[in-house]
Amino acid sequence: MYDPSPRTLEILPRLQAFMRQHVYPAERAYEAQLNAGPSRWVQPAIMEELKAKARAEGLWNLFMADPEFGPGLGNFEYAPLCEVMGRSPIAPETFNCSAPDVGNMEVLARYGSKTQQERWLKPLLEGRIRSIFAMTEPDVASSDATNIATRILRDGGNYVIDGRKWRSSNACHPHAGFAIVMGKTDPAAAKHKQQSMAIVPLDAPGVSLMRHLPVFGFDHAPYGHGEMLFRAVRVPAENLILGEGRGFEIAQGRLGLGRIHHCMRLIGLAERMLEAMLRRVRARVAFGRPLAERDTIRADIANSRCEIEQARLLVLHTARLIDRLGNKDARRQIAMIKIVVPNMAQRVIDRAIQAHGGAGMTGDFGRPHALAEARYLRIGDGPDEVHREAIAKLELKRALDPA
Ligand SMILES: Cc1cc2nc3c(=O)[nH]c(=O)nc-3n(C[C@H](O)[C@H](O)[C@H](O)COP(=O)(O)OP(=O)(O)OC[C@H]3O[C@@H](n4cnc5c(N)ncnc54)[C@H](O)[C@@H]3O)c2cc1C
Repeated sequence: MYDPSPRTLEILPRLQAFMRQHVYPAERAYEAQLNAGPSRWVQPAIMEELKAKARAEGLWNLFMADPEFGPGLGNFEYAPLCEVMGRSPIAPETFNCSAPDVGNMEVLARYGSKTQQERWLKPLLEGRIRSIFAMTEPDVASSDATNIATRILRDGGNYVIDGRKWRSSNACHPHAGFAIVMGKTDPAAAKHKQQSMAIVPLDAPGVSLMRHLPVFGFDHAPYGHGEMLFRAVRVPAENLILGEGRGFEIAQGRLGLGRIHHCMRLIGLAERMLEAMLRRVRARVAFGRPLAERDTIRADIANSRCEIEQARLLVLHTARLIDRLGNKDARRQIAMIKIVVPNMAQRVIDRAIQAHGGAGMTGDFGRPHALAEARYLRIGDGPDEVHREAIAKLELKRALDPA
């Protein structure tokens, strides 16, 4: 049932070879270039070299399901490829498949006008710019998106935007070109018709980056996450996506795919951490025996393997459902993977850290960074509790109204 498609089988070995030949060997050089630059907010030259090579080999925009704009792989076909990209922090950008650009590209491909696609989607697809998705706000509980309070007001041929956003990923990237901003066009409308989304160029007067926000102390340079102020920012009316009151509709389309991509990548990350753990415990001898011979370590290995496989199967199942039925009908499964996978990855990475002893705490092996990644995804794109609530609601409804 879960055999990869012929297209996946054709691309996967090429992608894996590219990772071995170019991406893993570039990880240290990338970090060294970041540290050697005038600041860490400069794009390392090696990233542009990697992008050019990946594009030349046709390993580019693999996420793009719309054949007009990319290879047209379904989610099920893309899952094993995305998982491989999750193995390295520099891989998603190498293949032009990184968040939040992927979600923004999908929004523009699916809902954007021809003008919006030409002006904003094209440079994103070519990897010339990066982008921001600005929904979360510091002043309101943003896991409930009906709270979003930024105003987007019509004024003649323009919209005027006022609000404060934060945790906006890519906000510090030197190539960041625009933000898709969510805000209220009509606070008096029905609850799910109040919000809209507008494209805001970052050089528009009134847009400012207030500060950079780290994640457990990691700066995530050169893209980072920022707090942003939008003060009387004017954009042409044609920058509104799809129309007034359609913000929720767009968010639902965007977040479903964003969530499953995060989960696919986390499975790859967990695999890499488990592999590192296996190497370490075979080589490290304590109290006269390799660590690999200790029952507790062996149990950790077995539990990690079971949990990764369970998570992968659920993600593949969800990917297939999305392909067949769409995001809406797969929302229960999307909520499930969003809980299951980051928690699984957190546990697997934590075991790998433990098995590395003091070395697991250093940046040398990338473990703390990986742990922060898994942990933040228990909040980013919706906290665990909100997804549990969604599942419970659907289950209770099913109990009342059985098929
Ligand atoms: C590294 C990182 C990157 C991010 N990138 C982006 C981005 O690019 N763009 C963007 O717009 N946002 C981004 N976010 C924001 C993220 O999506 C929000 O933090 C998240 O949706 C939660 O919103 P909040 O922070 O306002 O938490 P709140 O809504 O204040 O919730 C706080 C806590 O309350 C609890 N809670 C909430 N609802 C319920 C409930 N129904 N039942 C029980 N408990 C509940 C949960 O424990 C939750 O964690 C990012 C966040 C991080 C950490």
